Amino acid sequence: LVRLRSRLSRSQNTLGKGLLALLSREHLDEDTWEEIEDILITADVGVAPTQELVDRLRTRVKVLGTRTPGDLRALLREELLTLVDPSLDRELKTESHETTPAVVLVVGVNGTGKTTTTGKLARVLVADGRSVVLGAADTFRAAAADQLQTWGERVGARTVRGPEGGDPASIAFDAVKEGIAEGADTVLIDTAGRLHTKTGLMDELGKVKRVIEKHGPVDEVLLVLDATTGQNGLVQARVFAEVVDITGIVLTKLDGTAKGGIVIAVQRELGVPVKLIGLGEGPDDLAPFEPEAFVDALIG
Ligand code: GDP
Repeated sequence: LVRLRSRLSRSQNTLGKGLLALLSREHLDEDTWEEIEDILITADVGVAPTQELVDRLRTRVKVLGTRTPGDLRALLREELLTLVDPSLDRELKTESHETTPAVVLVVGVNGTGKTTTTGKLARVLVADGRSVVLGAADTFRAAAADQLQTWGERVGARTVRGPEGGDPASIAFDAVKEGIAEGADTVLIDTAGRLHTKTGLMDELGKVKRVIEKHGPVDEVLLVLDATTGQNGLVQARVFAEVVDITGIVLTKLDGTAKGGIVIAVQRELGVPVKLIGLGEGPDDLAPFEPEAFVDALIG
C-alpha cells in the first residue's frame, strides 16, 4: 500500500503543489485565480467542479485573513475532499448469494485495461480467500481470452472461454454456470469494448447482462476508464452509462498521468463512485480508491 501511495503521489502532486504555491502569493488577484482555474482544468477536474472549488476557496481565503502554509494546506485538503466525496459507497459487492456466486461484469473500451483489471481483481479476491471463476467474454480482441487465462492460471482461477469470435453472452452464461457448479464466491466477466456503434454495444452488453440474470443477479458493473484519455474518457463513460447501469468506476493508468482530477469529473458525470484505481501493469497494481489517501497524494 505504501508503494502504491508513493507511486500515486509521484505522478499526482504537481496539482496540489501548483495550487498551494499560487494560494500562498501575497496578493491573490484575478490573474492568480485564473491560474488556479487553469491548473484545475488542466488536471481534468472539469469545468463545473473547478468553478465550485475556486468559489469556495475565494470565500474561505478571504475569511482566513493571514495565510500560513499549514492553513492553506488544510483548507485545500478539505475542499478537494468535499469534491471527491468520501460519503459515497465504494464497497465492491463480491460476496456470494445463497446459491449463486456474486457476478461482476467488467466493461469499457478496448485498451483501457479491462482484461488486466479483471486479472488483478481476481488476484485480490483469491488472496482474500475467495474462489473465483473468470469469464472471457471479450471475443472481439483475439488475444484477450489467452491474456485472461494466463492471469487465471497465475492466481488459481478457472477461465471459461469460447471459440474466437464466439457469442459473448453464451460465454458469460457458461461462466456463471461454472461458478454455480464449483460453488465459487465470485465470477468476473471480461467483456468486449467495441464502440463502433452504440446500438451494437447496447445489444451486446444488454444481452450479456440479461443472459447472466437467468442464473441470478449481476452485482457489479464496473466501467474501466483510462485516466490518461481525459475528456475522451468522459465521452466513453457517458455512452456506457446509457447502455448499462454502471455501479462503479475503475480508473486505470493513474501512474502515467498527473491528471488525477478525472476522478472528480467522472464521478460527477455518472453519479457513480470510483471504486478501484490502477497504478501500473503489475499484478499488485490495483488498489481500492480511498478519498483521503488520494487527496493527500494530490497535495503531496
Ligand atoms: P483491454 O483491451 O481493455 O482489456 O486492455 P488490457 O487489459 O489489455 O490493457 C491494455 C494495456 O494497458 C496493457 O498493456 C496493460 O498492461 C496496460 N495497463 C492496464 N492497466 C494499467 C495501469 O493501471 N497502469 C499502466 N501503466 N498500464 C496499465
